[in-house]
Amino acid sequence: MVHHEGDSDRMNIAIDGPAGAGKSTVARRVAEQLGYVYIDTGSMYRAVTLIAQRAGVSVEQLAKLADLVKSLEIELEPGERGQSVFVNGENVTALIRSREVTLQVSYFAANETVREVLGIMQRRLAERKGVVMDGRDIGSHVLPHAELKIFLTASVKERALRRYREIVDSQTITLEQLETEIAERDRLDEQREISPLVCASDAVVLDSTSMTIDEVIHAIVKLSRTKMAEAK
Ligand code: C5P
Repeated sequence: MVHHEGDSDRMNIAIDGPAGAGKSTVARRVAEQLGYVYIDTGSMYRAVTLIAQRAGVSVEQLAKLADLVKSLEIELEPGERGQSVFVNGENVTALIRSREVTLQVSYFAANETVREVLGIMQRRLAERKGVVMDGRDIGSHVLPHAELKIFLTASVKERALRRYREIVDSQTITLEQLETEIAERDRLDEQREISPLVCASDAVVLDSTSMTIDEVIHAIVKLSRTKMAEAK
């Protein structure tokens, strides 16, 4: 393993869990508090999905999909209200949150080449440490040596309710429909063959069903400080 100067002062934190557990908000705010870089890996899978949809490339077209993912330059930039995502120079931050992308992303994320290419990008981003990375397979696969691993979860009902409150035009979708869609995305992410959503054996499980965001953030920052002190 390559050690960079300053490695001992900083660590990597992996935050995994199912859709809508609050990972991105929590990861962003933990990073802010520690002065770390926040990396939302779901946005990378979403970006690939958006570009494939635009190009008319389906998950079944393996060669075309592999060429497409290899041709993408994905850049993540921290911003005031979260992370901005650029693909080949185009800002796709809002576009990757569409329902069309959300409904398809788990199918594209099950593709071997897509996972391989994005996994390499993610490892590179974490090389210098000081990263809070959220996703599904960060602690189990992408950063197996992350100093702190969190598995953040909540009941499907609670996760659907949180998403429902976020959606401005909730008239177009019912709470029940959201619950079904979230459960389906979980099922696809848990059951895929390559690096599925699992809780790493050395992860700390946080069930946020009846916790506030601030409580979750506080718990993770505290755990990171304990780990840091132990390492010294
Ligand atoms: O986190 P978010 O809900 O934006 O992720 C979108 C999708 O991307 C997930 O449902 C999953 O299919 C995929 N994903 C993944 N591995 C990651 C992050 C996201 O497979 N590390």
